[in-house]
Amino acid sequence: MPRALVVEDDPAVQMALVHALRGLGLVTQAVSTAAAALQGAAATEFDVVVLDLGLPDLDGTVALTMLRSVSNAPVIVATARGDEESVVRSLNAGADDYIVKPFSSKHLAARINALLRRSRPSTRIGAPGDMIDLGELQIDLSRRRATLGDKTLDLSRREFDLLAYLAQRHGCVVSRRELCEAVWDQVSISDDRTIDVHMSWLRRKLGETAAEPRYLHTIRGVGYRLAEPE
Ligand code: CA
Repeated sequence: MPRALVVEDDPAVQMALVHALRGLGLVTQAVSTAAAALQGAAATEFDVVVLDLGLPDLDGTVALTMLRSVSNAPVIVATARGDEESVVRSLNAGADDYIVKPFSSKHLAARINALLRRSRPSTRIGAPGDMIDLGELQIDLSRRRATLGDKTLDLSRREFDLLAYLAQRHGCVVSRRELCEAVWDQVSISDDRTIDVHMSWLRRKLGETAAEPRYLHTIRGVGYRLAEPE
């Protein structure tokens, strides 16, 4: 059974998180300080860590960096609404995803499931011949072909690379920086709009708009997320 670690100092939120995670079938342990989290993560291998950024003993980003040094577990940071700067910092510090408080347990479950899918080797995708199936959207990685319903998408090399990269991490937020490194193979492309322009082309080919996204979601100031429509 997969194991989860909840790091949250607010007792009510902690209890709700534990309840939600146990409901997902995860063996769940909870702590209220960064120090206890580091100790726990060093002692036990977790499949996912839910980390509150506002802990009493350590700044959330520092806690995350230290956690990263003792554990490979995917980390989802829980943050207060509107705290965009700390979300960006924590994604840069190695968080795999974030969730804004207050959140429903249904929302949390979707994020956790996406993280677990992504991190479990048995379901990891990307080997030659692999297909990614996201509802109507299907991506054939080895043949570099994407179809939406019965229509083959006419994608440029870059657009396909972007789509494939996001699809392999579906459900998770991918930062612009990560996309730059992975798809453009460079740390920072001089014009930030390059990614946005390619994304808008890709979005148009998916037959959707930024205002009414179905698959491709823009997370302002952070990056993008590809997810199967609910
Ligand atoms: Ca807190």
